[in-house]
Amino acid sequence: MDFTLSNEQRSWQMTARKFAEEEIRPISLERDEIADPRETFDWEIIKKGSKLGFRTLAVPKEWGGHGTDFVTQALVMAELAKADSAISKTFSQCWKWSHLIAAACSEEQKRRFLKPFLEDDTFLLGKGISEPSAGSDNRLPPDDPKAGLKLRAERHGDEWILNGEKCFIANASVGKLFFIDARTDPNAPLRQGTTMFLVPRDTPGFRIGKVFNKDGWRFYQNGEMIFENARVPHANVVGPVNGSDMKTQQAGDRTGGDLFGDLELAANALGVCDDACGMALTLARTKKQSCARS
Ligand SMILES: Cc1cc2nc3c(=O)[nH]c(=O)nc-3n(C[C@H](O)[C@H](O)[C@H](O)COP(=O)(O)OP(=O)(O)OC[C@H]3O[C@@H](n4cnc5c(N)ncnc54)[C@H](O)[C@@H]3O)c2cc1C
Repeated sequence: MDFTLSNEQRSWQMTARKFAEEEIRPISLERDEIADPRETFDWEIIKKGSKLGFRTLAVPKEWGGHGTDFVTQALVMAELAKADSAISKTFSQCWKWSHLIAAACSEEQKRRFLKPFLEDDTFLLGKGISEPSAGSDNRLPPDDPKAGLKLRAERHGDEWILNGEKCFIANASVGKLFFIDARTDPNAPLRQGTTMFLVPRDTPGFRIGKVFNKDGWRFYQNGEMIFENARVPHANVVGPVNGSDMKTQQAGDRTGGDLFGDLELAANALGVCDDACGMALTLARTKKQSCARS
């Protein structure tokens, strides 16, 4: 098997390396030391990275994006993570979910959401699955209808009314558009009773709660989402009602973005380890140990 990078892959890797060294590394530690997790975020770094293409990396070329492959995305991820693994994750959330718009949304939804996403350097994306009482069991859903996420969506004419909470959601406090999984049939098991919605930030009845503090990934804005009779138009349903999200997640054909989710975390960790090894080597080569005499 030939592992040689193409010129395009190499070019993205070098652009990401330069951006990480010149723009991210100088601000990373400073952001990490800010006490309030909401204040750690820096829009300037997002705008600069967006102009270089790091936000729109995964949008197919026919929609005006860069249409990069998995290898390129993993290379960029590892390079950005060397300087700050939370800033890299903030960008990669946009890769997963912009790709999901392109792969799973209707043409009308793509026009409505991909176009503004491409045009706005501050347009970030996220996806809400986890809830205060539903985590791992969403990934391995048992047949019990009581298991898994509880956020409820009920149809009223051309609208769906959403009630419930999500937690730990990446880009929650800074995103402009979110995929949200909600139970549309509480009597069916998760895979058959869940529907995926596109929820813009300014949806009536939808608000962000607290932003969680974390060690290491302090720039990353993981927050609570609160839905109190939030009104989402039926036109924002992605795929069929009941079962759509579980289908895309399990499909393994890249539509759900979840396949890249695992690769993304590995590439992120690789970048961090690579940088840690580099620092350790530098220290070992340059440190001068003096023996104290008694
Ligand atoms: C930084 C960060 C970012 C995140 N971003 C997002 C996001 O953008 N969107 C989103 O929806 N969620 C997000 N999450 C949530 C994440 O997906 C969940 O934390 C994860 O699914 C685990 O769920 P949990 O925390 O409820 O743990 P639990 O499900 O309570 O699991 C706790 C432990 O028990 C183990 N366990 C659970 N069930 C079983 C079982 N049946 N058998 C054996 N062991 C079991 C688990 O492996 C784990 O070790 C994020 C979390 C973090 C920390």
